[in-house]
Amino acid sequence: MKIYDQHLHSNFSFDSEENIENYFISNENNIVTTEHMDVANPVTGKNDFPDYPSYDKKIRELNEKYNNRAYKGIEIGFFPEKEEETLKYLDGKTYALKLLSVHHNGKFDFMDDIVTTLSIDQVLDDYFNRMIQALESDVSANVLAHFDYALRKLDVTPEQLDSYAKKYLDKIIHLTVGKEMSLELNAKSMYLYGNEKLYSYMVEKYIGLGGRLFTLGSDAHSLDQYGNKFDKMREFLLKYKISEVAEYTNDLKMRPLR
Ligand SMILES: [Zn+2]
Ligand SMILES: [Zn+2]
Repeated sequence: MKIYDQHLHSNFSFDSEENIENYFISNENNIVTTEHMDVANPVTGKNDFPDYPSYDKKIRELNEKYNNRAYKGIEIGFFPEKEEETLKYLDGKTYALKLLSVHHNGKFDFMDDIVTTLSIDQVLDDYFNRMIQALESDVSANVLAHFDYALRKLDVTPEQLDSYAKKYLDKIIHLTVGKEMSLELNAKSMYLYGNEKLYSYMVEKYIGLGGRLFTLGSDAHSLDQYGNKFDKMREFLLKYKISEVAEYTNDLKMRPLR
């Protein structure tokens, strides 16, 4: 069995057209989809909540049809101004895997082109402050996803990141380790947007504080991206003598990388 891809979207997310069943038809792995929940999303101009009753029903059907390989997940796009609505949506719903992300500030998405017209200081202050609020909030999650989301469209070296944002990143890592959350290696961030070196910077901080939980996520929005770059991310972790990854099914298990 291949490494469990722990960042995946289907048409239960507002920005994916993929039929969830296609992930099951095409391989024999356990599958968890991490569907977008974004309150006050400036991309769509509304609250984007996955239709939980339909999703829950679909996962049950897939489990019957595909030998209990289906797990429920969610990507919580945290927006501090609407924490109450986020908690209300999550209340009473069960997931094998919850990702914690910051995607927007209510005015624009941090991958919108506008980000490239603003000062880097301004963008990173806003973005990382929001991430700290997410980690200090009452929302519980298993994994800190794509810590570099606002940096995907920017050209920033690790040295620049350190000078702009060290105080935030030290706090973010401290909170992540303290909450026993995994740090996600995001294939799109690392290899589509070229941020592998920024991940090195962050992974070293995380390991330095005793963090040992890593997940691999393709961030696929379509089947062709599923499991993308997992070989490269495996090599990346082995360089740091990390030889297993965290897997969230109904509990947390560690799976050897070799
Ligand atoms: Zn995301
Ligand atoms: Zn995602």
